[in-house]
Amino acid sequence: MRAAVFREPGVIEIDDIPVPVIGSDEVLVRVRAASICGTDLRIMKHGHFRLPAGQHRVLGHEVAGEIAEAGSEVRGFAVGDRVSVVPNVGCGRCRMCRRGLNNLCPDYEAFGITMDGGFEEYMRVPAAAIARGNLMHVPDVLSFEEAAILEPMSCCLHGQRKVDLQPDDVVVIVGAGPIGCFHALLAKQQGVQTVIVSNTRQPRLEIARRMGADITINISEQDLHEEVLRITDGEGADVVITCVSKPDVIAGASDLIGRLGRINVFSGLGDQARPAIDVNSLHYLEQTVTGTTGSSVRDYADVLAMAASPNVDLSPVITDRFPLEDIRAAMAQSASGTGMKSVILFD
Ligand SMILES: [Zn+2]
Ligand SMILES: [Zn+2]
Repeated sequence: MRAAVFREPGVIEIDDIPVPVIGSDEVLVRVRAASICGTDLRIMKHGHFRLPAGQHRVLGHEVAGEIAEAGSEVRGFAVGDRVSVVPNVGCGRCRMCRRGLNNLCPDYEAFGITMDGGFEEYMRVPAAAIARGNLMHVPDVLSFEEAAILEPMSCCLHGQRKVDLQPDDVVVIVGAGPIGCFHALLAKQQGVQTVIVSNTRQPRLEIARRMGADITINISEQDLHEEVLRITDGEGADVVITCVSKPDVIAGASDLIGRLGRINVFSGLGDQARPAIDVNSLHYLEQTVTGTTGSSVRDYADVLAMAASPNVDLSPVITDRFPLEDIRAAMAQSASGTGMKSVILFD
């Protein structure tokens, strides 16, 4: 079968490798769609601490497909079923796993990092992933490409749960890439009346609007801080979600919120300098700073149910489609920031 194999930073090749052999408690998924994530791009650039040098790996953790083969001991899944996977498989034993937070398990396994992921024709799903609920049925109303992008959307829901959105909140989402757009859609789905999205690129802001943003602010033309204060009659927003990896955005987040304001630091900063946080506004205005990473099995299940509802349309976020052979072009497109989600489609 064809697979895009990561060999070392900067090197990914289309190889002909054997179709994985599955055990009696495992499943083989015929991949139909796998979208490209910032994590794939980071691994391509810098590798990953869980990937030893020289270890080849099929990347891709945003995956949907249909079951091509199910082991004799597998219950609940059969050949032909449409499925997607929650990429991080917790150990099932640690304190985080016991609380249902497989995304925080220190001993996780993950598709596209420690196990082969979705940039291949057939992907093996090990027994632990099935047993812990990481393999999920996808309803017919969702296309395979929509099912693939549920993964980043589930991470956004995970982030929003930390800031407990209320209908009368004013929510500011900094960044209108795919993540910012998912946040806008989810905030609207949860009944928030005023969702503001900011970005420098107008085409991205148009998509954010199609995904539900009430107000978009192009920060190459307008000052975000001034606009938020104007919209909120000087009180400041209730929630800020930072979806860009810039220290000054995180440092400036507390200026955008008022009393009881909440911040979710959704994007990490990599090696960039860590910004100072205004501790006095935390204290005197009772503000809260949260951070989130990844998603739990529960977040994924909830997003799957939400996405299947008729008033949710994920299609504006999928802008570029490529065959597996063009994985490098797909990654370049994804890194360019000109489109939104790039998806590898298999026929
Ligand atoms: Zn991802
Ligand atoms: Zn664990």
